[in-house]
Amino acid sequence: MEKLNIIPIGKIDQKILDYLKIELRKKFGIEVEIAEPMEKPDYAYNPKRRQYHSTSILEKISKLTNGVILGVVDLDLYVPDLNFVFGEAAPLMRMAIISLVRLRQEYYGLPKNESLFRERVIKEAVHELGHVFGLNHCRDPKCVMHFSNSLFDTDKKSSSFCPKCSVRLSNC
Ligand code: ZN
Ligand code: ZN
Repeated sequence: MEKLNIIPIGKIDQKILDYLKIELRKKFGIEVEIAEPMEKPDYAYNPKRRQYHSTSILEKISKLTNGVILGVVDLDLYVPDLNFVFGEAAPLMRMAIISLVRLRQEYYGLPKNESLFRERVIKEAVHELGHVFGLNHCRDPKCVMHFSNSLFDTDKKSSSFCPKCSVRLSNC
């Protein structure tokens, strides 16, 4: 497997980047590096929606580096047909992006919960990278490749691959 580059886009808490680095190395058994941060993606901002177009950011970072890329933003992401996205994968470009914004309890007016936030972040990252490594959505609601329409689904699933997805992943 290639190296995984985590690219912070805009300002990202260093603690969560370090956490992702350690956890993703464990999950995928690959070398993980945190790349130089990129500027806030003003080019992707849609003032009408007050959100950032995730596909535009993916296109921009695709030229940056070799190996697999995980972009991390602390800005709200969208694609045109959806109200928002937690993340987006572009398997052909070997890259994915995740947003941290909607993974925090505070976003919903609830008290801060750091461990729940971290669990959600790792689930989103592993899910999108699973797509990059060739996996599709899985019907097992506990599998990290299960589709999350809401945080309810995210919180129900684990951060691990089910046996079937694990086999597929090791064959990728
Ligand atoms: Zn998915
Ligand atoms: Zn699965």
